[in-house]
Amino acid sequence: MARPEPAILWDFDGTLARRSGMWSGCLVETLNEHEPGHTISADDLARFLRSGFPWHAPEVAHPELCAPGAWWECVEALLASAYEQVGVAPARARELARLAHARYIDGRTGWTLFDDSRPVLTHMRERGWRHILLSNHVPELDEIVRCLGLDDLLDDVVTSARTGFEKPHPEAFAAGRRSAGDPATLWMIGDSVQADVAGAEAVGIPAILVRTEHHGCRRAANLYDVISIVGDNTRRGALRSPTDA
Ligand SMILES: [Mg+2]
Repeated sequence: MARPEPAILWDFDGTLARRSGMWSGCLVETLNEHEPGHTISADDLARFLRSGFPWHAPEVAHPELCAPGAWWECVEALLASAYEQVGVAPARARELARLAHARYIDGRTGWTLFDDSRPVLTHMRERGWRHILLSNHVPELDEIVRCLGLDDLLDDVVTSARTGFEKPHPEAFAAGRRSAGDPATLWMIGDSVQADVAGAEAVGIPAILVRTEHHGCRRAANLYDVISIVGDNTRRGALRSPTDA
């Protein structure tokens, strides 16, 4: 039987899209809306968010968090604890954590696609590549993607909150490979040296680091450069960055 068409495993955050201020920014936006006049900064909160998310311990599988509601129960407790540590009363901290949860998964608030994401994914898809999202992320990642209008270009969305494995755990990449149908040609593209590049290459998937300076691995400054590295499936109509001369 013929092997499936070539596929790319794409990281999401920092690769195809970004959220302004990330988690601490989302927590401050929630305070701005519901506690106007507060004096808490994103930096105040970020200190308490440096551990405790499932992706901070990628060597540990977390199948117990795949049950409905369990992932957010764990993460809301972490968010509430950050609020409490900067002086919010416990009951209000839990309420604000629930509101921050709703804000974080709203693709219309704070999330933006990088300018090159749609053009490059479209170009590659027209040439036979399939695109799989492989991300350490929330259970509702597919909804964020739909809100951003990227769903029509993706064949599947694989999020660690549903598989129970965080990149660079080998099983995270096994889930991505399964989703792609185990094609002969498979690449991983992402902005994290450890989670995306080292993790993929450890299980034999060639990888490209994007948007991040680092020596010693395959690297692309932007997604347009990814095309020439993985090889255009056809020679017609090369796509170039609008900023190229
Ligand atoms: Mg990333």
